[in-house]
Amino acid sequence: MREFKIAAIPADGIGKEVVAAGLEVLDVLAKRDGGFRLNIETFDWGSDYYKKHGTMMPENGRETLKQFDAIYFGAVGAPDVPDHVTLWGLRLNICQPFDQYANVRPTRILPGIKSPLAGVGPRLLNWVIVRENSEGEYAGQGGRSHRGFPEEVATEVAIFTRAGVTRIMRFAFKLAQSRPRKLLTVVTKSNAQRHGMVMWDEIAAEVAGEFPDVTWDKMLVDAMTMRMTLKPETLDTIVATNLHADILSDLAAALAGSLGIAPTANLNPERKFPSMFEPIHGSAFDITGKGIANPIGTFWTACMMLDHLGETAASARLMRAIERVTANPLLHTPDLGGKATTRIVTDAVIAAIEADNE
Ligand code: NAD
Ligand code: MN
Repeated sequence: MREFKIAAIPADGIGKEVVAAGLEVLDVLAKRDGGFRLNIETFDWGSDYYKKHGTMMPENGRETLKQFDAIYFGAVGAPDVPDHVTLWGLRLNICQPFDQYANVRPTRILPGIKSPLAGVGPRLLNWVIVRENSEGEYAGQGGRSHRGFPEEVATEVAIFTRAGVTRIMRFAFKLAQSRPRKLLTVVTKSNAQRHGMVMWDEIAAEVAGEFPDVTWDKMLVDAMTMRMTLKPETLDTIVATNLHADILSDLAAALAGSLGIAPTANLNPERKFPSMFEPIHGSAFDITGKGIANPIGTFWTACMMLDHLGETAASARLMRAIERVTANPLLHTPDLGGKATTRIVTDAVIAAIEADNE
């Protein structure tokens, strides 16, 4: 029996609701498969923990996490704790020290789900966005002087290193190469940001030489938002900086139907540290406690985690179950225009796993 240790960190708001649903589904899936076991430990870190202890996670939290094969994460964010505290205190406090530098965000239109783009279905929109996840605009560098005075100056420094850009570029080219169309779009803003972004363009051209079978092009990030909405079929694999890809991937999620279905993996490709899997969305306090959070993004996230663990058959079974459920509009949550609850969708996915006999 193959065994894996999973750390579950539901954290805040609907993160708690969707991770609870995800753990139920994973339990049924492992039993159905029979070949592997998931030993799951759930941690109560997040904003409630912060209000009690003054930190989002314990000081030895990362030491604890190092013993796990993967981390299954919900979302951070609470109405009464500043966003930079919750984000830096937990999510980035795991991603950055664990060198999860490749953030992978598949986007496609699932069966039964309507894109806000008229006439665009699964065949015209099937992307994977690679977000550089360790440096750029989220490097945490900068400062403020003359705080509160009219002379106040605040800087936010984006850091790009040759090593950091080269490794994400290789990762993206390799991923593009593994997909049928072998197509990569490198996104920058090298007209305005003339240091880091120009280096991105140069490194892209260098790394492209290692992948002669991949067709690639360059786009400025502002023009990219137009291309995503007007010519989605011309895109396949996309690589961009931490901030640019953060923004583009929320747009991508909306174009694929809802932020509630979008998954992501924060990968340490060298596997020196555990990787972390989470839905793209945040804690959504506008719908917290209502039982209507869409759990599909968190289920799809579980597929990515299972693939990472090598359990590809179980991942494929879960994806089939997800698609069977999304195909039925009666099983859509309100973000998709339906009336279903988190409970109804979860039960339907579990039933589809149990009924799946491939
Ligand atoms: P959000 O993603 O929480 O919500 C944006 C909108 O999408 C809301 O209207 C919400 O109701 C809806 N939505 C999101 N997920 C949904 C789901 N699964 N089902 C149905 N509807 C869903 O973003 P926000 O409102 O900008 O931020 C709320 C908090 O979350 C903030 O504190 C923010 O910092 C935090 N945040 C955290 C993460 C993360 O943990 N990775 C990501 C984004 C935002
Ligand atoms: Mn985001």
